Amino acid sequence: MSYTTLSGRTAVITGAASGMGAAAALLLAEHGASVALLARREERLKELADRIDAAGGRALALPVDVTDRDAVTGVARRAKAELGRVDLVVNAAGVMLPNPIEHGRADEWARMIDTNVTGVLNVIEAFTADLISAAADGHTADLINISSIGAHVAFPGYAVYGATKAALTQLSASLRTEFGPRDVRVTNIEPGLTDTELGNHIDNPGLGSDGQLGELFDLIGPLTAEQIADLVAYVASRPRTVNLRQIVVLPTRQA
Ligand code: NDP
Repeated sequence: MSYTTLSGRTAVITGAASGMGAAAALLLAEHGASVALLARREERLKELADRIDAAGGRALALPVDVTDRDAVTGVARRAKAELGRVDLVVNAAGVMLPNPIEHGRADEWARMIDTNVTGVLNVIEAFTADLISAAADGHTADLINISSIGAHVAFPGYAVYGATKAALTQLSASLRTEFGPRDVRVTNIEPGLTDTELGNHIDNPGLGSDGQLGELFDLIGPLTAEQIADLVAYVASRPRTVNLRQIVVLPTRQA
């Protein structure tokens, strides 16, 4: 599909080291957007930036931990200095660390809350002024958050992950009341099972790729990161008065 209106946009994509974030960065860049790539793994970001540059695009690798508010402010400053005013923010950074609540994994609860909620807030804060200013000047401006079907559907072991995604879904809806009147669109995307690195960090074997998650992959068949990226590009390329507010995207076999 052609997304010609993405040409000239300046995008920030978190979670760009892998999965949906990397796929979204590639697709947006392919259609003419300049892209700032945020995640912790610097090598991954550099490889992706080189790939985009080699294909004639413009990319900037900005390693950062989104849970570190000051560090996010710092890379935001660099992104704006090197690429210009940001008019498209994609929050894809996230972690999914399921465990039964009785295991008391406060370390994993904190990582999920810090990354999936506070990290997103840090990034939104860092680019809000740019989004509002771009919209005020008549440009299209987008905030796109990657939540999860887990915001609505309960899975055993996923109480805290689901709670962080429910928070993100509500955050997206609430922000429309602040951003919409200023012509900044907010889109919340809730994917179902998607084939990425997300499950690789699960340390409970019963729930990981050799357990519950692996069984789901076999049973359902996941979406690809590229399919989610396609949605991101579709959302961002609608006419500026059209805001796709909420998208639930599932593999056809996922109930
Ligand atoms: P990946 O694990 O491939 O991508 C997650 C990305 O987040 C990685 O690039 C990782 O890079 C980055 N990240 C994690 N923690 C931090 C941090 N503290 N600071 C900066 N970056 C961080 O998985 P997905 O592509 O699947 O995940 C993208 C989003 O989609 C997530 O929010 C996830 O919750 C959501 N989602 C995924 C689904 C799925 O089935 N895969 C379904 C529904 C929603 P690095 O480690 O280098 O920092």
